[in-house]
Amino acid sequence: MWQLLGQDRVITLLKHELETRQLPHANLLLGPVGIGKMTLALDLAQSLNCTGDEPPCGNCYTCLRIKSAKHPDIHIIDLQSESKGERKQEVKIGIEYINDLQSMAKTPPYEGKYKVFIINGAENLSIEAANTLLKTLEEPPPHIVIILLASSERDVLPTIVSRCQRLELNPVPLKQLENILIEKYKLDIEQAAFLARISHGCPGQVLSAIQNDKFLNERTDILNTLVEIIHSNREGRLNFASHLTSEFNKNRRSINIIFTLWLDWWRDLFLIREKNQELIINIDRKTELVNHAVNYTTQQIDIFIREIQATRKYLSQNANSRLVLESLMLNIPSAHISTQARVGE
Ligand SMILES: [Zn+2]
Repeated sequence: MWQLLGQDRVITLLKHELETRQLPHANLLLGPVGIGKMTLALDLAQSLNCTGDEPPCGNCYTCLRIKSAKHPDIHIIDLQSESKGERKQEVKIGIEYINDLQSMAKTPPYEGKYKVFIINGAENLSIEAANTLLKTLEEPPPHIVIILLASSERDVLPTIVSRCQRLELNPVPLKQLENILIEKYKLDIEQAAFLARISHGCPGQVLSAIQNDKFLNERTDILNTLVEIIHSNREGRLNFASHLTSEFNKNRRSINIIFTLWLDWWRDLFLIREKNQELIINIDRKTELVNHAVNYTTQQIDIFIREIQATRKYLSQNANSRLVLESLMLNIPSAHISTQARVGE
């Protein structure tokens, strides 16, 4: 059974390609973090090698070996997969990974029908690695399938993209994800609605929230800090900008999470001002948002949302991180509507 949730169009296509033996040797799975790219890659690896009646059966020896990451013909390449000394600190998937892939690709599968290479984070391939991979993508041995995973096509070398079947995974519509969570994971309606919203339709994020507290605790910490910073003075905001700068230099992923939550918060304020409360994401903090929204005009909120988006873009273009983050923090709008005016509302 396919484990990927809410992507019926892609699964129908792949089933057809598998049944008619037309699955391309190179596939690029695109979509945001938590959408299910790795789940689909493993579904495909199982489908290609499954010995059951309805691949991927999930129960045959092969499917179980792949699920427990013990199958000798399935190789996952990513920045975390190597812990051998000097490779540990890398920020790029270097050429040595692809040289390893090529030498493994030369020999037939040990026990399955196909060798499957999953490259997680294709946007992290170094130029040298990507160019070397091109040769394999151009003339792949018949017994291999390569599956590249990336958040955005924009960051993958165009010559790689053009040699792959491009499969885009889109956020699962809220109602559909809510129904999946209620039926498959037995969540109550309220919890399903909350998790579907805060995950932006990415099932992987919901599942990590169900499995451990880390995801929700991290969100709570970030939102509490956000509220604190909004009410803090210039010095407090600059200190926070400095903290964000060092986070950005250490771990870009954590900055992305912070930015997503900040954007959600300010969009919620906008929706409340525009009397569209039913569309807000942070439904667990609705009262706080409603109280907060009265402090601003719609225009102030709109301008600051654009500011956050622009900052994110500048950071991705390697602008001076300290400067853009300080500017963002100093541009947090001040309360526009006085307390007295609020009383009269
Ligand atoms: Zn199977």
